[in-house]
Amino acid sequence: MFSGLSRRARNLSPSPTLALDARTKELQAKGVDVVNLGIGEPDFDTPSHIGDAAVQAIREGFTKYTPATGIPDLKKAVCKKFLEDNGLEYDLSQVVISVGAKQAVYNAVQVLCDEGDEVIVPAPYWVSYTEIIKLAGGIPVEVPSREEAGFKVSAADLEAAIGDRTKILLFNSPNNPSGAVYDRDELLAIADVCLKRGLYIISDEIYEKLVYGGLKHVSIASVRPALKDRTIVINGVSKAFSMTGWRIGFAAGPREAIKAMGDLQGQVTSNPTSISQKAALAALLGPKEPVEAMVREFEKRRNFVVGELNSIPGLRCSTPGGAFYVYPNVSAFIGKKNASGKTIADSADLAEAILQEAAVAVVPGTAFGMDGYVRISYATSMENLRKGIDRLRRFFAALG
Ligand code: PMP
Ligand code: GLU
Repeated sequence: MFSGLSRRARNLSPSPTLALDARTKELQAKGVDVVNLGIGEPDFDTPSHIGDAAVQAIREGFTKYTPATGIPDLKKAVCKKFLEDNGLEYDLSQVVISVGAKQAVYNAVQVLCDEGDEVIVPAPYWVSYTEIIKLAGGIPVEVPSREEAGFKVSAADLEAAIGDRTKILLFNSPNNPSGAVYDRDELLAIADVCLKRGLYIISDEIYEKLVYGGLKHVSIASVRPALKDRTIVINGVSKAFSMTGWRIGFAAGPREAIKAMGDLQGQVTSNPTSISQKAALAALLGPKEPVEAMVREFEKRRNFVVGELNSIPGLRCSTPGGAFYVYPNVSAFIGKKNASGKTIADSADLAEAILQEAAVAVVPGTAFGMDGYVRISYATSMENLRKGIDRLRRFFAALG
């Protein structure tokens, strides 16, 4: 038995979304026909002009180290994006390119959070936030939202959770897993609490482009001028351009914080892949149509999935404004018995039964800090969605 693991490693939980995806793919490789509604990864091909830019980068020998924080051209394109999309003006020294938005979130937390600092995380939250906070020695303070409030926390909810050691709000709109999109007034109220109480904000806006029904994404950093100097905004190309495997995210914020994130990156990973940076540049500067086409398709799928799920007796599914997830309430099925007679005690048991008995992968709400729900990703084909929902319908009917 190996006993050399650090306390940090022993306390680390693996990402439940990635673990479920690996398990699903293993089952599929063995020939089990699992419908994967687990992972949040667009099923579309990366638009071809982006791939072409990468091929060109290879052909031209753009395959060496770049500056650790990214190439200036890409930083310029990121500044342009922030100005045009969010009304946020940054110079190149306020931008860092990272290995996916995930590394940007990790680095941001590392450079802001000291041992014992509290970080407020509205729940439900993306699975990696709490682990990333703990890796920095911070203490995640979960603030639950309510389904009736559209899974959004209010300024008052947040203020009630702020104590002497609270330093950061880790904020995510559009939200993974609920799809909640905060509007400007809601953001203003939250911004004012953060300003009043001297909080810093890390705002993960990776789903910015994926909003539906005429909603508009607003960056919390843009709603009060004073807040821009206290906020690190995170975004990237993974979701909007269907570029999950390319691993390019970015962050913008106060110069000192961005410099520290760059220094950390310089010691840990060096630059994100040179070729991927050229691809991301093509994505940001290229035509908007491919993104718009994906968004239209996601909206169609969202409407289909919400309608279907609500027609399953016992399930209740609100219509999310953004991202590519729905977060139906499954509490009516907690306490029922699975096929082998074991009581389903929580959403983790339920998701396991759904995988075993219905061959559909969904992520339990327990992974997002909010039990009684499961997350269903509609970032997959209509055919898969139809098949998956048919199976879920039969599964829930059998559960009674
Ligand atoms: N933030 C949120 C809310 C996410 O859902 C994800 C999942 N991809 C990430 C960050 C990480 O994005 P990336 O793949 O660019 O690292
Ligand atoms: N963010 C996606 C998800 O929630 C991808 C997996 C991950 O990085 O967590 O499914």
